[in-house]
Amino acid sequence: MKHYKEFVIGLDEAQAKVQGARCMDCGTPFCNSGCPVNNVIPDFNDLVYRGDWQNAITVLHSTNNFPEFTGRICPAPCEAACTLNVNDDAVGIKSIEHAIIDRAWSEGWVKPQPARHRTGKKVAVVGSGPAGLAAAQQLARAGHDVTVFEKNDRVGGLLRYGIPDFKMEKSHIDRRVEQMQAEGVSFRTGVLVGTFPKDSKVTNWAKETVSPEQLRKDFDAVLLAGGSEQSRDLPVPGRDLDGIHFAMEFLPQQNKVNAGDKVKGQLRADGKHVIVIGGGDTGSDCVGTSNRHGAASVTQFEVMPQPPEEENKPLVWPYWPLKLRTSSSHEEGCVREFAISTKAFTGEKGKVTGLTTVHVEFKDGKLVEIPGTEKTYPADLVLLAMGFVNPVPTVLDGFGIEKDPRGNARAHTEFAGGYVTSVPGVFAAGDMRRGQSLVVWAIREGRQAARSVDEFLMGFSDLPR
Ligand SMILES: Cc1cc2nc3c(=O)[nH]c(=O)nc-3n(C[C@H](O)[C@H](O)[C@H](O)COP(=O)(O)OP(=O)(O)OC[C@H]3O[C@@H](n4cnc5c(N)ncnc54)[C@H](O)[C@@H]3O)c2cc1C
Ligand code: SF4
Repeated sequence: MKHYKEFVIGLDEAQAKVQGARCMDCGTPFCNSGCPVNNVIPDFNDLVYRGDWQNAITVLHSTNNFPEFTGRICPAPCEAACTLNVNDDAVGIKSIEHAIIDRAWSEGWVKPQPARHRTGKKVAVVGSGPAGLAAAQQLARAGHDVTVFEKNDRVGGLLRYGIPDFKMEKSHIDRRVEQMQAEGVSFRTGVLVGTFPKDSKVTNWAKETVSPEQLRKDFDAVLLAGGSEQSRDLPVPGRDLDGIHFAMEFLPQQNKVNAGDKVKGQLRADGKHVIVIGGGDTGSDCVGTSNRHGAASVTQFEVMPQPPEEENKPLVWPYWPLKLRTSSSHEEGCVREFAISTKAFTGEKGKVTGLTTVHVEFKDGKLVEIPGTEKTYPADLVLLAMGFVNPVPTVLDGFGIEKDPRGNARAHTEFAGGYVTSVPGVFAAGDMRRGQSLVVWAIREGRQAARSVDEFLMGFSDLPR
């Protein structure tokens, strides 16, 4: 808790070999379909077991552009699907992935792969999160001239300004950006495509704006990968008091400070009673950051009931199980309250000082309040981490594309015509299309969308899906 650096110690060669050897090379490898990018897990497990690390990274890179991201922050649905997980611990697949890519970088095996032929086609990618980056790398390797537009001051999307450094240090992104630049990708940071509402709380450090019309005129195809940035709000009495903020107002500031920037009036938790509302990854990241600031206390609320510590394996395997997940940030110090709902914020002189809650339970499929369970909590800082509802609508509206009922860019993911929006030549991928999700899903969508864009431009594509 004294620093913001990564602290997970990776497997050494001998430990990775043991994990690789535990893989049974199942006839039907459920891990392979449990992994959203369909990593060819049994093959790289075997290569690591045999000590052939160079071929292991070739296999890993064949399905995943950025294993150093997923090897650190993927929740590893592959391990939930591992056959050993039925009656033993799963193979440490994510740790093997982490070990392979770290070794590959340190040995100098990760090199730029510039295209042999240029197509002369120009593609604009809007958003530099994992979806935009994966798509841009694939499209550049297919020979297209790719420009990535990013409204914030650095490349990486939520990898850069959502996920704290202690989960993933940002040098991993910088190294990939260098590789991609050497492959011909141009990055334009501080450029907003389209418009944002004036009162938006979504981070926007753009100094320049490009209109959707201009982008479509200047480029042969456009891929929208702007994420799902609109945070879910909690419009209960007292919401307008000072000291109540979205997680995504709080977390990016610390990542900026870690990068060496000065942030005037940084939102800090020092000596404060912090309440984090929302029990997911984002909430856990607020817990870890608040403890590093030196909060007096950190409490996290989750509206859903506490899940079981252990899943019912025969019932749920090989799928992602519902069970209690305790992150290292929780272990660092945090009171966790489940089945709790916030009814109001209270304050003095315009500043939040506490909140009123009630416990809830499921009745006839609905969450209802349990009478007599009202309670008050002191709070000097409240962080809202209840997920994201959809992309900022004005960006999609600027392109005139159809939205799905949840407000995401509408596009299907079938093999033919996948990722195409209702506007010809405009594609969508990642959280902007599927809604808030995971880094590994964003990489998958970026790769698949790149193939669709390539097919649209050339009539065929050799890019994998
Ligand atoms: C705090 C936090 C922690 C998380 N932790 C994890 C985790 O541990 N593991 C995991 O797998 N997933 C995690 N996630 C989810 C994961 O980060 C996202 O699912 C993933 O980053 C989505 O990728 P994306 O490329 O679709 O969009 P994003 O990463 O959101 O990137 C979109 C980018 O587009 C830019 N942009 C948007 N609109 C415009 C515009 N009009 N013009 C120019 N640029 C624009 C944005 O500034 C942003 O940089 C976390 C999310 C949060 C918020
Ligand atoms: S990307 Fe995630 S699901 Fe796929 S192998 Fe790696 S840790 Fe497992």
